[in-house]
Amino acid sequence: MLDNLTQRLAKVVKTIRGEARLTETNTAEMLREVRLALLEADVALPVVKSFIGKVREKAVGKEVMDSLSPGQALVGVVQQELSQIMGADLGEKASQLNFATQPPAIILMAGLQGVGKTTTVGKLARYLKQEKKKKVLTVSTDVYRPAAIKQLETVSGQSGVDFYGSDASEPIQIAKAALDHAKRHFYDVLIVDTAGRLGIDEQMMQEISGLHKTLSPIETLFVVDAMLGQDAINVAKSFNDALPLTGIVLTKLDGDSRGGAALSVRHITGKPVKFVGVSEKLDGLEEFDPVRMANRILG
Ligand code: GDP
Repeated sequence: MLDNLTQRLAKVVKTIRGEARLTETNTAEMLREVRLALLEADVALPVVKSFIGKVREKAVGKEVMDSLSPGQALVGVVQQELSQIMGADLGEKASQLNFATQPPAIILMAGLQGVGKTTTVGKLARYLKQEKKKKVLTVSTDVYRPAAIKQLETVSGQSGVDFYGSDASEPIQIAKAALDHAKRHFYDVLIVDTAGRLGIDEQMMQEISGLHKTLSPIETLFVVDAMLGQDAINVAKSFNDALPLTGIVLTKLDGDSRGGAALSVRHITGKPVKFVGVSEKLDGLEEFDPVRMANRILG
């Protein structure tokens, strides 16, 4: 088991007990431990550097109250800063889906293949139906993988929502037909699953950005796998450059990962994490909680 941050800092702090404020010197050693903890949590290196810089700025010169050791005081600064970056200061609204549009509210899903996009569509459909009482339609524009379309049909059925099947061979045609169907049958929400690729490629980005232009979705969610680790920032950057994302879904948080990708992706895109995936099952979707995420990353 890895030590958590408080335990790590406690080891360093023995030497500097009794100091009344956080200084350049006592902070530097402790920040090395914070840096290590973040790297172990798989936060991307440039993000770690920027975060450490911010914490140093806020910490140095801070009075350590009588009851607190310098270690505890620094943990406090780190936790607060991390929770804030994760979205605590944006308020609860940041993690809510936006429905302020003429129905159907369109949710476009983006992300690489295998990250859990289709499963997340099923989870989201179930959540919107059960928790938000929405009438939901799903559609897949993955014309390259018939199995992916079938998978969406299956999870939609399991979630008790309708699935739009199409014989069209072109993603934009399928999306337009689904939107037309959703309008005519008074659906509240249309969730559009898109083709993923194993890596970023130009054609994939052009295709999804074309879908975005056609549909003008109110939500464009970037789905990313918590296990992606250091690579998460490159993938997030490509999607964020190609599409006006409105939020992030971090999947597979039930694995071993500490979830450092959440911090990396939040930092790179500036967009709020809205949901986390916590199991393979369709009830395994939770609304994002920034403070809990910060604590998890810190171990
Ligand atoms: P897609 O290619 O992005 O559409 O990915 P899929 O939805 O097909 O999911 C890929 C694999 O990840 C499947 O085996 C899913 O069951 C699994 N998966 C998706 N979300 C989660 C999650 O939150 N936790 C776990 N443990 N597995 C997940």
